[in-house]
Amino acid sequence: MCTNPYLDARQRMVREQIRARGITSERVLAVMEQVPRERFVPERDRPDAFCDRALSIACGQTISQPFMVAAMTDCLGLEGHHRVLEIGTGSGYQTAILARLACEVYTIERIGELQNSARALLASLGITNVSYRTGDGSLGWPEQAPFDRIIVTAGAPEVPPSLTAQLTDSGRLVIPVGGRDEQILTIVERTGPHTREVPRFACRFVKLIGREAWREGGETESGGQADQRL
Ligand code: SAH
Repeated sequence: MCTNPYLDARQRMVREQIRARGITSERVLAVMEQVPRERFVPERDRPDAFCDRALSIACGQTISQPFMVAAMTDCLGLEGHHRVLEIGTGSGYQTAILARLACEVYTIERIGELQNSARALLASLGITNVSYRTGDGSLGWPEQAPFDRIIVTAGAPEVPPSLTAQLTDSGRLVIPVGGRDEQILTIVERTGPHTREVPRFACRFVKLIGREAWREGGETESGGQADQRL
């Protein structure tokens, strides 16, 4: 009998790295088994695609650790009718997971080369409910707002006000917030005019670079070093 070695590896990844660490949503676990993570890593790294860590992709960026993708997705509490904004398309792996769980996904990446290869890969997987934009996602996508859920897969010095403003009245934002080297995965819950920030756990992401985030050189837009926040 011919089994798909990658399917076996994905099932093991879900069992040992994700279910074993307390992610219980069967919807999340099922898509993590289905989406072919091996296609989202550079070809030479395919044997490492299911390792318990982030991997380098093009342009000095990373594809997140499988558990981090699952945990952030779980924090979003996605429902099939949700419109989702993702900041930091990167490899497109998290995008593919979101697209399988939500109604529509809007994804923004500041590096055009990454955006183009993610777009082509998702199209080749038959994923058609994603809209792509190249630009500064710290400002959100005002023309398509509001969003039921927003996920930021890069670390910000603080929660960008534009993103909170683009949530629906009962919307939720998941974002790593903190210094350059370590952040706290934070959930921002909006209830009408009120917002509540719930810190979850420490994490480590590449920088969110933009008008309401880090400057290229490591400073925030306001000019101050923001890495004393942690
Ligand atoms: N979810 C992706 C993570 C990629 S790393 C994956 O698992 O593959 C984070 C990405 O955020 C990088 O590709 C980086 O270029 C992008 N990024 C950083 N600042 C950004 C901004 N202001 N707007 C959009 N994308 C940004």
